[in-house]
Amino acid sequence: MHWSPTAAQSQQFQALYELILAGNQQLNLTRITDPTEFVEKHLWDSLSGIHNYLAQAAADATIALPPAFQVIDIGTGAGFPGIPIAIVQPHWSVTLLDSTRKKLAFLDQTLETLQISNAQTLVGRVEAIGQDRRHRSQYDLALIRAVAGVTVCAEYALPLLKVGGEAVLYRGQWSVAEETALAEAVAQLGGEIAHIEALKTPATQSDRHCIYLHKRHSTPAEFPRLTGIPSQKPLGIAEVG
Ligand code: SAM
Repeated sequence: MHWSPTAAQSQQFQALYELILAGNQQLNLTRITDPTEFVEKHLWDSLSGIHNYLAQAAADATIALPPAFQVIDIGTGAGFPGIPIAIVQPHWSVTLLDSTRKKLAFLDQTLETLQISNAQTLVGRVEAIGQDRRHRSQYDLALIRAVAGVTVCAEYALPLLKVGGEAVLYRGQWSVAEETALAEAVAQLGGEIAHIEALKTPATQSDRHCIYLHKRHSTPAEFPRLTGIPSQKPLGIAEVG
């Protein structure tokens, strides 16, 4: 990634790992508990989606995004990718959205223990949050990992972005059929596929794809559709063979 954490960030990652192991006793947070696997599948993977921003900052410390750069992690679960990103980008404001209140109570405690003041939790279904004017068209960057099919993720993410904003869909394998369906879905949502990046994870050389979407126009008011409909009737899915 041409980037390494500071000593303070490494300490926060270590503390995050320990808190998640402890939290796993009560809540089903993650099946990834081995330390090396945690680094690869949670930390490296979370940061891979913003590596362009990290490379930019490393190359030129004077490049600064607007101070209120607003980020939302949709379906954050145990805080991925949002918490590692909040740790390495302390000037970003990161909203951690999930529909499961118990997981967010754990994340509130984690943010407090790690003294992360630039992230906050938000409980709700993204279908409702995307129609809430306090959140619709409010974000510069939307991140979504392991939540739903790719066109469903696009319907969740694009309404939350400002025009000009970017979404990162974290995927494992990637297929031409998915790309065709996604292109059709994002066109309906006011966006376009900006870039697809194929990556290999550093330890096990597993396939990862980061799909970058750009929002060009405002999303029609009908999207996101009512709770449950995006996953029951995914946009563009007729094309997936
Ligand atoms: N993003 C995390 C990761 O990659 O480790 C968690 C992935 S977990 C498999 C999916 C999470 O998305 C769950 O915590 C679930 O509660 C949340 N989720 C699924 N559908 C959602 C929706 N419609 N609105 C809000 N959260 C949702």
